[in-house]
Amino acid sequence: MAAKDKDRFVVALAGNPNAGKTTVFNNLTGGRQHVGNWPGVTVEKKEGTSKGGSLEFALVDLPGTYSLTAYSLEEVIVRDFIAGNKPDAVVNVVDASNVERNLYLTTQLLELGVPLIVALNMMDVAETRGVKIDVELLSELLGVPVVPVVALRNRGMDELTETIAMALRGEAKFRGIQVLYGREVEEEIAKLEEAIASDEALEKAFLGKYSARWLAVKLLEEDERVEEDIDRVEGPDAPVMKRLEESRRHLFTIFGEDIETVIVDNRYGFVAGIVREAVQRQREGYASRSDRIDNILTNRILGFPIFAFFMWLMFFLTFYLGKFPMRWIEALVKGFSNLVSTNITSPVWLHSLLVNGVIGGVGSVLIFLPQIFIIFICISILEDTGYMARAAFIMDRIMHWLGLHGKSFIPLVMGFGCNVPAVMATRTLESEKDRMITILVNPLMSCTARLPVYALFTAAFFAANQGTITFSLYLMGIILAIAMAKLFRKTLFRGESEPFVMELPPYRWPTAKGTVIHMWERGSLFLRKAGTVILAGSVIIWLLAYLPWGVAYGSSASIAGKIGHFFEPLVKPLGFDWRAVVALLFGFVAKEIVVSTFGALLGGGTRATISTKLQAIFTPLTAYTFMAFTLLYTPCLATVAVIRKETGSWKWAAFAVGYSLVLAWLVAFFIYRVGLLFGGK
Ligand code: GDP
Ligand code: MG
Repeated sequence: MAAKDKDRFVVALAGNPNAGKTTVFNNLTGGRQHVGNWPGVTVEKKEGTSKGGSLEFALVDLPGTYSLTAYSLEEVIVRDFIAGNKPDAVVNVVDASNVERNLYLTTQLLELGVPLIVALNMMDVAETRGVKIDVELLSELLGVPVVPVVALRNRGMDELTETIAMALRGEAKFRGIQVLYGREVEEEIAKLEEAIASDEALEKAFLGKYSARWLAVKLLEEDERVEEDIDRVEGPDAPVMKRLEESRRHLFTIFGEDIETVIVDNRYGFVAGIVREAVQRQREGYASRSDRIDNILTNRILGFPIFAFFMWLMFFLTFYLGKFPMRWIEALVKGFSNLVSTNITSPVWLHSLLVNGVIGGVGSVLIFLPQIFIIFICISILEDTGYMARAAFIMDRIMHWLGLHGKSFIPLVMGFGCNVPAVMATRTLESEKDRMITILVNPLMSCTARLPVYALFTAAFFAANQGTITFSLYLMGIILAIAMAKLFRKTLFRGESEPFVMELPPYRWPTAKGTVIHMWERGSLFLRKAGTVILAGSVIIWLLAYLPWGVAYGSSASIAGKIGHFFEPLVKPLGFDWRAVVALLFGFVAKEIVVSTFGALLGGGTRATISTKLQAIFTPLTAYTFMAFTLLYTPCLATVAVIRKETGSWKWAAFAVGYSLVLAWLVAFFIYRVGLLFGGK
């Protein structure tokens, strides 16, 4: 019988050796079967006919494999058959007593994008071994139908044929879940996909067989077959291969490991995530090192306090370790300022530009460099060790209550560093709605750019409680992010958050190189900002504070004063004066500029003199109100740009600006008015 009559459906059986494929095959086909060999090789090929209701289909028993690499004949046969013959459905026979190992193949079948049905076989063995599987949840997570069966006793076969028939009629659910490989690898996959898709010869050669994504992943995995195929079409100098070379090199520097290992680890991470959620073992069998660590770190009771401790440690290190290098930089800035001050005394405007504008502005921000780098190191380590994935796992239930998926938690924590990479990190969220909500509330997470503002103001007004006050602002950001997420879920992006697998990649020691690269990628953004945007902003503010000729520097009569007074009525109800207006206006470009504006407007000097000058403008109450406003009001320019890029529309970028402005005003108004009621000033 021909395997490919167009008017007949073809269904393939795939699975690990000894999972029970042949038993299922015999059950479904009865006596009607044909045994031969796969073309050109002596691997046995069994074909037969089966029926689901009135629907007849050909059934093919594929060789048993653990994986879909190109290392063995069996694996190549399975791959070629699925890609070349495009069976109408693939039944993946999974040994339920050994799900962990079996699901590895399942993830690869998912990656091939075939309509998949999982026959969860050997349920009897699983039961006697004390393995409990939540079949419904497993089906949700894999995004395909899962049918529990005991092939040896012919149990569950009717349900299986019925499900197959449903799949053939196009009525079964296939969510098209993909294993995601983490931000770094995904970025390279995207570049490779683009290189593949823009190559017509490749398009033609692989048309309809493999997706660009599948080819990209296989290339990164160093799959020889795919490399050979591309060689044949393109020759070894193909642009795709050049791209691949670069990607591999980049990933190697970050992971310090073969990219193949990283990919395999990630697939196991996907499986580990599924197993931790959907499988319960009464008796603990073999546990890997990662499993044992996870038993503690993702423990239902201990998990949350442990996470809270790590967060506390992060802020503790930031403030306490940061203090020392901060003093050195401060001394450096001061020395430099004195040097310039004494040596460049004329013309007067140049002296003022350098001392007030450049050093006063940029210097007042630069001294916070150590804190910023420490937060970035902490976040890089949390991510690179694999702990961040666990934190997301622990937070999953809370995030669901918010209407978000646990994975949304990762970009939110990254927002403590910088909202720009955090918004980009939402790419790893499968659900578009989850992604939009996570992007929109991300700017409420207090990034390191706000840190200098808190540091400056708490030093001037809350010297005894700097840590607590700063912590309260972070907390305010988190609580409002939660509230807004809930609100957006109820209004703009209605619906349930769909279950997706929380990948749990194995723990790894972060490589020093990788951590430094990640820290640098984020930290250098800040340095570049100091040298460009903040510098330019400081000079402009200096100019506005200096002009027109002859007015007292930074006085009401200066241009800055005029602008500030013009907008002052808008923030009068919040207790701010015109200098706050100027700082906030320019702070839209980058929030550190709020600090450098005060530095420049108040004529530079040491932090102590700026503190004294600030005390003349703000009261403790208005200072706190001002910090809250700075935290919440409009994302900085770079964040707005990345929101527009990631959402693909100006509309959402404008919305992010608009809603946060309104939110900031309302919250600030509330704080100020309630504060006044309780006797604040
Ligand atoms: P294949 O390698 O995937 O084709 O697996 P087989 O169909 O040859 O089955 C391997 C072994 O598992 C055989 O000894 C089967 O009798 C046994 N087996 C298959 N299904 C079940 C089941 O549901 N329960 C139990 N206890 N044994 C099974
Ligand atoms: Mg067999």
